[in-house]
Amino acid sequence: MDLLYRSTRNAEKTVTASQAILKGLAEDGGLFVPAYIPKLDVAMDELKDMTYQETAYVVMKQFLPDFTEEELKECIEKAYDDKFDTELIAPLVKVGDTYHLELFHGATIAFKDMALSILPHLLTTAARKNNVTKEIVILTATSGDTGKAALAGFADVLGTKIIVFYPKDGVSKVQELQMVTQKGKNTFVVAIHGNFDNAQSGVKALFEDQALKSALNEAGYQFSSANSINIGRLVPQVVYYVYAYAKLLQNGEIEKNERIHVTVPTGNFGNILAAYYAKQMGVPIDRLICASNENKVLYDFFRTGKYDRNRDFVLTSSPSMDILISSNLERLIYTIAGQDAEANAQLMEQLAREGEYEITPQMRERLQDFTGGYATEEETRQTIRDTYRSTGYVMDTHTAVAAHVCRDYREKTGDTTKVLIASTASPYKFVGSVMAAIGDSDGCGDELSMIGELERLSKVEVPKAIREIQDAEILHTRECDVDKMKDAVKEILKVEV
Ligand SMILES: *Cc1c(COP(=O)(O)O)cnc(C)c1O
Repeated sequence: MDLLYRSTRNAEKTVTASQAILKGLAEDGGLFVPAYIPKLDVAMDELKDMTYQETAYVVMKQFLPDFTEEELKECIEKAYDDKFDTELIAPLVKVGDTYHLELFHGATIAFKDMALSILPHLLTTAARKNNVTKEIVILTATSGDTGKAALAGFADVLGTKIIVFYPKDGVSKVQELQMVTQKGKNTFVVAIHGNFDNAQSGVKALFEDQALKSALNEAGYQFSSANSINIGRLVPQVVYYVYAYAKLLQNGEIEKNERIHVTVPTGNFGNILAAYYAKQMGVPIDRLICASNENKVLYDFFRTGKYDRNRDFVLTSSPSMDILISSNLERLIYTIAGQDAEANAQLMEQLAREGEYEITPQMRERLQDFTGGYATEEETRQTIRDTYRSTGYVMDTHTAVAAHVCRDYREKTGDTTKVLIASTASPYKFVGSVMAAIGDSDGCGDELSMIGELERLSKVEVPKAIREIQDAEILHTRECDVDKMKDAVKEILKVEV
């Protein structure tokens, strides 16, 4: 039997993988999950000699059985090409006594490229397979990195339009410039007067708006999502954990079957969930260390079993992790509830109503694989500075949150298991905060003027993504209030509701 997908809030209905990608979010507001996690069907001994693209095929074919070999390979070839600045796609770098898996060598220099360079191809292939003739409208909320990576992925892709909402004052200068200079007739960018959670809830509400849906339908449109709730984002992320383990083995850094920990700087819980899926596929991963910034909802959750978003939202130097509602956690909740859609739906309803829920002791027992940790702003700065001084390696603020949590975990437990750190952005993307940590500046002032200095200190060449925006024209200036997102969509698509 081929693997099918179900909503985390409805046990009855099943859809194929390509349908799940097309829909993005289930109609009941739940997230699509595979009925089971498939096991790797190629041995590590064989995987260790494979390229990124070959590994991607081995992993993704298991999750997307209704894609033909030809279709899937074509998607992979189109995605992981010279848009990446290294043939390795996701290189491993040893920094001190940890391994950094650098996931920022794609077009927009953040890890979102790993999935968003393939999602447009998966989506248009899925549309073809399901005889969808409507134009697909991608609606996306971004805390900074998804937006640009999605815009870059979908720009001028036939049969699609993309609308990105970002929090006006919640992203870095580089992130904002990357988005507002995006070319492509089918791209639209809207700054909202609110934070990321407002943007994300707004987009979710648009998806659930039946009146809007039928108006769009009449106008020849169909919504889909490029957010990490789309299974077409999650599946490509499983690939690099398999790849990283295989390369550690190939490089002689670990023994066969040696278990490693993985530390992931976490926001919406997509990246770390992919690591959890990789573990369930059979990759010898021991602990999953979930690193948060000062918005430490997840840390508190792993410590107490209570998810509580009722707290102040903190703007930090790692904005892509400034999130109080981690959407993908729902997939984990569903799993630890024993794939009980009803129990999960109740908790999610409680979260929507009261902003909190508590899981049962039995569910907590199933969370043993996870450890939570967090870094304060000062600890994040300190980690960037210390690592630079002791090794010469410069990391970005998000990765630094993970590096701090990893070091803290090791100090507290004495655990010497080898650790892989998901390195999620280039330091150039957050040059202001990074230079405040390692340079003489206070991080204020014009971020773009610090790029040359970062190049001198890090000895890493300025990436193309940064060179491009330095004198690019601003093409998007649209702004709106949080409660006017629907109007913005209507205006962009020229539909009446
Ligand atoms: C999106 C993002 C994260 C958080 O990833 P999630 O999958 O949302 O947990 C961390 N770091 C960077 C640089 C990001 O862009």
